[in-house]
Amino acid sequence: LQDRHGRTIDYLRLSVTDRCNLRCRYCMPEEGVPSIAHGQVLSYEELLRVAAAAVRLGVRKLRVTGGEPLVRRGLAGFVRQLSALPGQPEIVLTTNGLLLAEHAAELRAAGLSRVNVSLDTLRAERFEAITRRPGLERVLAGLEAAERNGLVPVKLNMVPLRRVNEDEIVDFARLTLNRSWEVRFIEYMPVSGGLDYPPESRLSADAIVAELARLGPLEPVPRTGAAGPARLFRYGGAPGRLGVIPAVSSHFCGECNRLRVTADGRLRPCLFSDEEIDLKPVLRAGRDGRPLEELLLAAVGAKPEAHRIGADDFRPGGRRMQGIGG
Ligand code: SAM
Ligand code: SF4
Repeated sequence: LQDRHGRTIDYLRLSVTDRCNLRCRYCMPEEGVPSIAHGQVLSYEELLRVAAAAVRLGVRKLRVTGGEPLVRRGLAGFVRQLSALPGQPEIVLTTNGLLLAEHAAELRAAGLSRVNVSLDTLRAERFEAITRRPGLERVLAGLEAAERNGLVPVKLNMVPLRRVNEDEIVDFARLTLNRSWEVRFIEYMPVSGGLDYPPESRLSADAIVAELARLGPLEPVPRTGAAGPARLFRYGGAPGRLGVIPAVSSHFCGECNRLRVTADGRLRPCLFSDEEIDLKPVLRAGRDGRPLEELLLAAVGAKPEAHRIGADDFRPGGRRMQGIGG
């Protein structure tokens, strides 16, 4: 699958729900958001047909996301079906980790390769301030369970924010000194207006790298295959790695290799654009095969060369991250 800008598209992110058991201030308003009506959410069977079509076209990696994917019942069964698709795509999961300790073993048995756990602080009170819910201990238990069950390498995603948790960048980096985790720092993305942190809260990738260098000299890690947009480093002799993801600043879009499907069945060519292609009419008419593939091809064809954040006419979109899947 090649787009008009010469990029190979081999990665599909599937959002299985827009619901969540946290209310992270940069992602959701306190009162939550009106949930998509039950009948509008794609069934696992429908999501599987979309995934199968994408894999036929050349997609090699499927990420299950949300909302919080582990709040949807039967997720391990869905993972099992995905991993049984012809072509054996790699199946990975992004989760806030709250329910991971309970589900890690069955997810592994179902064919999940590994997990990305989102965690922005290692301090219990701050966790509650950022996510508006308690739960740090459960997330830490989830990380341990992931490792114990072979969902490795464990990847930890942190969004550093000025005056919120920037003082913990080094604490997170230190985790790589004695664990073979990949700790990834992701630039805050002002994707939807009205959330708690203003755009100036964003720490640029360069500022994050400068902060990481305070702990010791950073060795660049050569990228293997589709590393996506992360810049990778390690400290000399450390088992773990560091990733810095310049989601907003320059070098991100040229590496873009992905499409997204929202829980209500819209294909998104670009995270930062509200252009969407509705899969539901085709799915619900019971059509499959070529019609579905054509919609995927149309989404690939519609991928813009780059996002427009920072441009004078850029306006945050209508969906929040929880409605897109990150
Ligand atoms: N609930 C799951 C989780 O938190 O991992 C999966 C969905 S969540 C929307 C996916 C990722 O998006 C998380 O790592 C979260 O930190 C990130 N995210 C949400 N809003 C963001 C924002 N405004 N800027 C940067 N990352 C954001
Ligand atoms: Fe939920 Fe993930 Fe958004 Fe936090 S970032 S509110 S855990 S969807």
